[in-house]
This record gives sequence, structure tokens and C-alpha cells, in this order.
Amino acid sequence: MAVTEATSKLDCVPIFSGGKWIECDAGRTGTVYNPSTGQAIAQVPLCSAEVTNKVVQAAVDAFEDWKETPVVERARIMFRMRQLMEERFNEIAALVTREHGKTLAESRAEVQRAVEMVEFACGIPSLIVGETMANIAAEVDAETVRHPVGVCVGITPYNFPSMVPMWMIPVSLVCGNTFVLKPSEKTPLSANLIGELLKEAGIPDGVFNIVHGDRECVDALLTHPKVAAISFVGSTPIARYIYETGTKNGKRIQAAGGAKNHMIIMPDADLDISVKALAASAFGCGGQRCMAGSIAVAIGSIGDPLVDGLRDHAENMRVGPSDGNENVDMGPLIRREHVVRVGSFMDVARNEGATVAVDGRQDFAGDGFLIGPSVIDQVQSPMRVAQEEIFGPVLSVIRAKDLDSVLEIGRACPFGNGASIFTRDGYSARRFKQHFNAGMIGINVGVPAPMPWFPFTGWNQSFFGDLHIQGKESVQFYTQQKMTLTRWFASSSDSHQDPVWKTERKG
Ligand code: NAD
Repeated sequence: MAVTEATSKLDCVPIFSGGKWIECDAGRTGTVYNPSTGQAIAQVPLCSAEVTNKVVQAAVDAFEDWKETPVVERARIMFRMRQLMEERFNEIAALVTREHGKTLAESRAEVQRAVEMVEFACGIPSLIVGETMANIAAEVDAETVRHPVGVCVGITPYNFPSMVPMWMIPVSLVCGNTFVLKPSEKTPLSANLIGELLKEAGIPDGVFNIVHGDRECVDALLTHPKVAAISFVGSTPIARYIYETGTKNGKRIQAAGGAKNHMIIMPDADLDISVKALAASAFGCGGQRCMAGSIAVAIGSIGDPLVDGLRDHAENMRVGPSDGNENVDMGPLIRREHVVRVGSFMDVARNEGATVAVDGRQDFAGDGFLIGPSVIDQVQSPMRVAQEEIFGPVLSVIRAKDLDSVLEIGRACPFGNGASIFTRDGYSARRFKQHFNAGMIGINVGVPAPMPWFPFTGWNQSFFGDLHIQGKESVQFYTQQKMTLTRWFASSSDSHQDPVWKTERKG
């Protein structure tokens, strides 16, 4: 069943379980909006624990056969998936824009990252090879083999509806697990399109499933005895809840949370390049990225020209509906309430003594969830705009005297996703890289988000767990090792002999 968008009647998006698209009468539903128009475009079922458990059971039933399917065959499905994503690239991107609101160019960039995750997963056969050591004791050989962990779950946020699910699904599946995706109830359409494509690529029934819902559905997943591992991406309070509840129920958890990312501009930095990079980082995707730079720390004399440059840039950005419209630099935010919340931080900042250089609250034509970019100057590190994740197009500027104060600001921040420095000076860059309190560092790079071959190494309250998403760590997360010791005998008469471990001590 093709499910891409609602038509005249407000369609309720189906769940995908055991290879079938199922319209479920969930009782409770949520509404999916087109943020460009403010119109409701679909309903999403908020599945009960009972329905959720049935979907997990479909993944349980499919596991035994799938784990025995040779890894190269599992990877081959991802080669087909990659081909299908390339063929339907623009359709996937258009759907992301329709339900999320980011510009079409931003959606294409997102889908490109999703394709790269599939490409990474195509190479997993080389990454899950085990280790062996011959003669670890006399005539005893040791080996480790990576096995899948079982049924894996992905719980994903609204801000990258096609990329974040693909941080999890391809790696998990090629490692031999079956999978249940619980996408954001705000952006379920892109997730269902992924399901359609995986089915077309040949994924066997039950190996990949989708359930829609909110807390009731998530709680059922967190406590289900047959769920082995959960990958979560979303806000920090929910990431912490997922980690605590999931581990209490014996599951492997990787939970990526929110962020507050700093961008440091040294006095020797190229001003034009820095302004463009800062604006792209802070205002790209309407600031709704966990790697968005939301605080600029201007060192010394560069403060005034930097704020002037940012003001000019922000005031000249074209903000408007993005659905079907290439001529905008920034689209709408996800929901009207979110626009109000983001705008309210201008008042919070003023009340705490900061200066609002650009207030993004404007009158826009139409009913889209629009707000312009904002720049707040003279921010101090303890202020709310410097400590809380706003998750909108708001850039706060802190003026600081030197790199030591920057490191202090980093230590005072509860998050630890990304941080960037703009400079021509290698010594400052190295010092920043070594000492700043965050897990992903950019040097003259505004959004230091890693490609799939590297882990997404959030620190502090930006990550709960041990093994991060992406890269080799993700293969470790989705597999468990089995170690085997082997000894063979030259003849059956040898077999009574004691093993070969040396226990004698001299003296
Ligand atoms: P969110 O935490 O509201 O929702 C994420 C997921 O959790 C959704 O699937 C949602 O249905 C579920 N959820 C929400 N409330 C729940 C509850 N009370 N109990 C159980 N489940 C619940 O996040 P969001 O608003 O969709 O996404 C934005 C957030 O995600 C931001 O904080 C952003 O920084 C973060 N994010 C982090 C990363 C990263 O890699 N660190 C990447 C992308 C987004």
C-alpha cells in the first residue's frame, strides 16, 4: 500500500507490521501538518500498548530466519535500497519538506545523508568480521564472532524525518537484527515512505516494521521483554527517561539528546566566511538541528563587526513557505506553538539584560508556521538563552576576552554535542579542540556533524549510553560477540588428557 500523503479526506497513516500496511483503529490520533500552509494533511494513530506489542511480535517472529540469512544477502538488500532512494530522491526530499518545513535544498541534503548511511551499511560485511588467535593455549584456538542482538527499536525525532531513522535501520538490519521504528508522530509520512522502499528492496516480512504513537507506545517498547536494544534520538529529558527506563528493563540503550552548540570567532578569523558559516549553522533548517550553532562567542575586537554582519545577513534572508518553493532561504518551524515558544525567548533575553539585535517575530502572509531569524547580543553565559535549547533560528552572541573564558563557558554548559572555532591560528585551534567540553569539534566548520563512517559523539547531557550512533560503534551496538575456544585431538585416546592451561608456578 502506497502511503505518501493524504488526499481529500484526512487519511490516517497506517502502521507496517509483518510486511503488511495496517490501518489501525487506535482510538487516539495525532495530526500531521504541512508547516508551510498550516493545514492538517493527515492523521497519525497513537498506538496502544496492545497494538505495539503485536508489532514487536512480528519482529520477534522474523528474527530466527533473518539472523541466519548470510550477511552478504542482507547487505544486498541495502544496495537495492540505495538504488531506490536515488531513483526517488526528489520525491523523498519533497515529502520531508511537506511535513517538516525545511527548504527543499535542506531536504535534499538530508536525504543525501540518509543515502550515505545506506552506503555505509552496504560495507558492514567487512566490519563484522571476528577475531581469531591460534594456539592461545597449546593446540587451543580462540575466536570471536559477532551475532545480532535480536529485536531492535528506533525512536526518532521530527527534525530529520528521513535521515535519523536511517542512522539506525540499515546498520541494525545488515547486522542481522529485526527492527521496529517508532518515528515522531509529527513527521510519520517520511518514515512510511522508507517502509515502502524497504519492502520494494526486498526486506522479508517482519524484518522491518513501523509503529506510530506517543508515550504509551514508547513505554510498551521500553518494557517489552523481547526488545533487546533501543536507539533513541530526541530531546534531553526524554533521552534520559529512555536510558533510565530501558536499562532498568535490561536493554542496550543509545540515547542522543538535545544540545547548545558554541561557535567561537577569534579576532583573526575571516569575517565574511565566519558570518556566512555562523548564519548557515544557526538558521539552517530553522535552527531545528541538534548540531545548530546557537551561541556565537566573539573574542575581543571582532565582536562589533561580527554582530553587524550577522544583523545584515539575518535581515536579508528570504523566509517563507518552502513546500514546492525553491525561492526561500528558511522555511517554517514544525508547529505554531513552537513559533510562539521560540519568539518568547526574545522577551526572556531582554528581561535578563541582553540586547535583541534582530527580532524574528514578523507578520507573514498566509497561515504557515513562520518566524524570521533572530540575533541576540550582549548575552552572558548564565542567561537562559545561553543555557537552554531553543531549537529555533536564534543566535545568541556572547562577548569574551580570550580563549580561556571560552573554555570556562563550555564547562558551564550542561550539553556537549558540537562546538566550532573560526581562526587562522593553529595553536588556538588545537587548544580549543583539546580542551573544549563537547564531543564533536569543528575547526572553521560551522556544523561539525560526522559522516556515517564516524560516530556521532555527543557528550554530557547530549548523550546517554556507551556506544554512539554511526561508525564502528554502531556495529558494536547492534551486535554481541560470542567467543569460542576450540581443541581437537589427534586420536580418541588423547581425549582423556587434561587441558593444556599452565597452572604450575616455579619456586
Ligand atoms: P522529542 O524528545 O520530543 O521526541 C523524540 C521522540 O520521543 C519522538 O518519537 C516522540 O514521540 C518521543 N516522545 C516524546 N515525548 C515522549 C514521552 N514523554 N515519553 C516517551 N516518548 C516520548 O524530540 P523532538 O522535539 O521530536 O526533536 C527535537 C529534539 O531532538 C531536540 O532536542 C534535538 O536537539 C534533538 N535531536 C538530537 C540529535 C542528536 O543527535 N543528539 C539529533 C536530532 C535531534
